[in-house]
Formats: sequence, C-alpha cells, structure tokens
Amino acid sequence: MIEAIDLHALDEHAARSVDAPGTIDEEREPGVGAAGQRRLLTSRVLILGCGALGSAHAESLARAGVGKLRIVDRDFVEASNLQRQIMFTERDAAERLPKAVAAADHIRAINSEIEVEAETVDVNHSNVERLVKDCDVVIDGTDNFSTRYLINDACVKHDINWIYGAAVGSYGVTMTVRPHLTPCLRCMFEAPPPAASAPTCDTAGVIMPIISIVSAVQVSEALKLLTEQTEKLHGSLMQFDVWRNEWRKINPGPPAPECPTCALGRFESLEATNGDFAAVLCGRNAVQISPEHSTRLNLQELADKLRAMGEVKVNDYLVRFRTGDFELTIFQDARSIIRGTDEIKIARSLYAKFIGN
Ligand SMILES: [Zn+2]
Repeated sequence: MIEAIDLHALDEHAARSVDAPGTIDEEREPGVGAAGQRRLLTSRVLILGCGALGSAHAESLARAGVGKLRIVDRDFVEASNLQRQIMFTERDAAERLPKAVAAADHIRAINSEIEVEAETVDVNHSNVERLVKDCDVVIDGTDNFSTRYLINDACVKHDINWIYGAAVGSYGVTMTVRPHLTPCLRCMFEAPPPAASAPTCDTAGVIMPIISIVSAVQVSEALKLLTEQTEKLHGSLMQFDVWRNEWRKINPGPPAPECPTCALGRFESLEATNGDFAAVLCGRNAVQISPEHSTRLNLQELADKLRAMGEVKVNDYLVRFRTGDFELTIFQDARSIIRGTDEIKIARSLYAKFIGN
C-alpha cells in the first residue's frame, strides 16, 4: 500500500525553498543548469541508427542544444515508417531521402545553431571506430544485436560511454555502458538472443509510446553524462512494458571478470569477416548487399545504364530501380537494399546482375 502523502507539508517545503534559496545546495544547480548547457553546446553525440528510436533521440538532443550531432543510418525513408519515426514526413518518403539526410534537414530547421553531420552508411567493422572516436557519447538507435556488439567493442576500445536501447511491440529496454566502470553489453549478453526466442519487428511491430519512453531515458542519461552528473545515472538494466504496465530496474552488478570485451580486451566484431556483406532487414521483406571493397558510384551513369531494363528514379543520394517484383535501391557507396525477397541468395544474384560484383 502506498503511504498517504501530506500535500500540505509538501506545499510548505516548496514555500520554504522559494523563500530561502540560501538553504538549497548552491554548489550545483539542479538539472542541466547554465554550466551544463554550455557543456552541451560543445559536445558531440553520435546517433547510430535513425529509425524510430534514433529519430526521437535526434529531436530531443537537438532541442536540448547539444552542439554537434552525427547521425548515421543505412536506410531511406518509406511511408510505412511514419507511424513511429517522428523525424520524417510524407515528402521525405515520396523523395526517398536517406534517413540521415532527411533527419539532418529537419534538425537544421529545429535548431539552426547546432552542427549536424549526416552519414548514409552501413555501420560495420571498417567504419565504426572512425564514427565513434571523436564523440563524447554514443546513443543506440539500431535494431539489431550484431551492430550493438560493434558499438560495444568500439566504445570499450576507445573508452567512450554509450547507451543501449531497444524496443519491440510494447516492450523496451535500456542500459548505460561506461567502459570498465559498469558492465558492458557483452558482460550482460554473452551472445545475441536466438532469433526465434524473442519477438522481432518482423512479428511484433512496435508502438510509438514505448519508443518515447526508451528514448526519454536514453537521452536523459546522455544529458547526465555530458553534464558530468554521473551520480544521477540510473545504474540498471531498465525494462518497460507499456501494455502490461510493468516497469523494472535490474541491478547489473559489476563488470564480468571474464568478459572477453571489457576484461580481456578482445574486440572480435572489429575484425574483418567474410560473413557481413549481406543482411536480411528486419520486417522489410528486404536484403541489404554491401560491396566487399569500398567504392564510390556515379549514380547518374548507373541510372542511365539501368533505364533500359526497368523503371528508374534517381536523386543526389541513391538510385531506385524497379524490375519485376523487385525494387533495388542503390546508394553512392554501392550498397544496395533489395526489396521483394528475404532470401540472401536471390538478392545476391540481383545485385550481381544489375550492379556488378
Ligand atoms: Zn564487458
């Protein structure tokens, strides 16, 4: 049972605080404060993934006045995103803008005094360290565990705080990782959960309210870290379910003494492997194919070549090519998202046929 609260006593307390400000700890202003606000302005935050969570992070951090935002996303805006990805509009979807580019445009309209960098790339072992290195905090807006292990490895290696967050259905979870001070993602989850055991956005979808909650906690943690108020961090694996009305804080304990990442300093996901050039995209009936070697395409030339074989649209960032039941979106870095299949084999053969090896 909840104890009755004496509202009168609370009023009196508030009145005393107002009457006698000298009794409040004046060493540090509550919340962000003026000094904190100045710190935010000189900070750089990396938002990795700009879907539902990343959109919410970007807006909150921009409005809070974080001076430099780097937004990284591999995908483009589609109409089906608009139900939960607050950064985007119907026009972005019609123009097929990359999410990072569309988000950066909107952020400049929200707060013209901050710097925004947009990168339309797939985060992988070859670029993750470059992306995190000069950032003060990294905030997770991705939708898969393999990218989160990359973030975890890069952040532990370079000693950068990062904030894990995930949401599916009405359930969400978040944890703040301060390398060597708190458990890292690998301490908590030695391996990704088996694909079939957990609902994914394929099967469950996600509702906006849980996105708002998880993002609110992640961004609050980012602001505490940036303003050096680490004593205010929640220090837990925090879980929520807005449909079942559950809200839990799990004590993660100390870092695991045998953790391969933060105890033994092995960063396996940062090493090149042959396996990560193709990926089935969650809930999209689509596959992403990445070239084995980095390259830069001339999009106009590619569009001209493909025009003879199907319907083509091109903008500054990508070419969209429709052929039969498939739609290929090809980015400047020669990466392609192939819609109409969730079979890597089929996607690979379409890639080889229309874009090259
Ligand atoms: Zn660890």
